[in-house]
Amino acid sequence: MDMMQVERMLKLFGWPLALMLAALLGMMVVSGAGVDLLALAAPKLRDMLSLLLLSLLGCSVFWLLLNTWRLYCWESGTWKGACLFCGGHMQTVDGLSVCLGCSARREGWN
Ligand SMILES: [Zn+2]
Repeated sequence: MDMMQVERMLKLFGWPLALMLAALLGMMVVSGAGVDLLALAAPKLRDMLSLLLLSLLGCSVFWLLLNTWRLYCWESGTWKGACLFCGGHMQTVDGLSVCLGCSARREGWN
């Protein structure tokens, strides 16, 4: 895996992973160290925060799965439409689709 590929993987999975980690960390804080403080201040706030973080976690997992599926489509050549990594226009040359924006390549026709 070269640097270009690492960068693309980061573009695809970096944000959902960061969001997931942030949600998990937040949940740890809410249910752990921050409990006394939050429970004293406003018990309802803690529940709301937990619910919010849980939905955030759900969204990030969904996002991650979605991107995994998109990458699978891209790799298997069934991806249709714009570039997966930058949203650029794809041009098909000799059965190989090349992105005009970031020059990512994939097999198959556009
Ligand atoms: Zn591109």
